[in-house]
Amino acid sequence: MFLSGKRIARVSQRLDIEGLTCAFDGQTVVEDVSLSIAAGQVLCLLGPSGCGKSTTLRAIAGVEAPVAGVIRIDGRVLCGDGPMVPPERRGVGLIFQDFALFPHLSVAENVAFGLKGTRAARRRRAGELLERVHLSPYLDSYPHELSGGEQQRVALARALAPKPRVMLMDEPFSGLDNRLRDGIRDETLGLLKEEGTAVLLVTHEPEEAMRMADEIALMRGGRIVQRGAPYNIYNNPADRAAAAFFSDINVIEGEVNGALTATPFGRFLAPGVPDGTRVDIVIRPQHVRIDFDRAGRGPNPTPQDGSPARAVVTRSRFIGKESLVEFRLDEGGEMSATVPSVFLPKPGTPMWLAIRRDRCFVFPQP
Ligand code: ADP
Ligand code: MG
Repeated sequence: MFLSGKRIARVSQRLDIEGLTCAFDGQTVVEDVSLSIAAGQVLCLLGPSGCGKSTTLRAIAGVEAPVAGVIRIDGRVLCGDGPMVPPERRGVGLIFQDFALFPHLSVAENVAFGLKGTRAARRRRAGELLERVHLSPYLDSYPHELSGGEQQRVALARALAPKPRVMLMDEPFSGLDNRLRDGIRDETLGLLKEEGTAVLLVTHEPEEAMRMADEIALMRGGRIVQRGAPYNIYNNPADRAAAAFFSDINVIEGEVNGALTATPFGRFLAPGVPDGTRVDIVIRPQHVRIDFDRAGRGPNPTPQDGSPARAVVTRSRFIGKESLVEFRLDEGGEMSATVPSVFLPKPGTPMWLAIRRDRCFVFPQP
């Protein structure tokens, strides 16, 4: 297609994975993983240590041979039926936690390392990239002369220099100290978006995934258990473990009777769940409310909040911008609530708690 004499590129810069399965010594560690990432999009592969994130990434990079599955970039098969395309011909950039810079090469030489062309052209491209990451004054410095954050930016410049279609990043920010990290994350993200690179970011930190991702793929035991935008995955988790991966949770156990479950907070709907099924009602501590209005006045149920339940404070902790308050419910069971840190009630204080039904998740017990 032509417009004003310019050819319009098909928007197809993307990564597609279907049914990826990897094993070591007959032990499957990645099972039937399917993902796709569009140009300029960031997908975070999120999950606990050992769940198979790095193996997935290494299979896409071409340094690990999968047992089954197809990997495509822009529709080109890198791994599937035919011979495997070697790592250096896949058009992927890699960034790891330890940056993996060459200590004996200068910053500019590190960035120019994988580039083709004349010495001058390579140096020019390296200079361009280093300017983009604000490291122009350090062209001729060596990695050990730079801070961790600066080294991370050199690694980013080096990975971007050959204009990869896909960037694979394995816990790239976990070596940086907290205060540096947010700034570097945002800068890195900005640069990758500008370049239109499809990004697969591996992390075990939910906050990082929520901050960086257009989409999160939550992984557990080698499988993807849920995919979605951060907001959706946080607010509509697939199961109890998916809810628990993002924050502490409160769990109220119950049994379904006539599509309802009785709890200290009144009855909960459990549509489509057969009578006699045990269920977990899950609620995050920030959605438990201390009900000051009703304190001392007793329950005053509303459809949204259900009935408040009486509870006694067992422990109160100040944790910075909020307080974490633990309770024992009069009807039995425990609950924790996060509240603004101006409030730190003493153990033994009786209070009323309320929860919003639309913030609770009801899961049949496995
Ligand atoms: P993650 O990156 O999510 O922490 P990995 O993909 O590194 O997890 O590892 C997944 C599983 O595969 C783990 O049980 C790990 O011990 C195993 N594993 C990873 N690499 C190898 C290897 N080269 N040989 C044998 N087992 C491995
Ligand atoms: Mg890993």
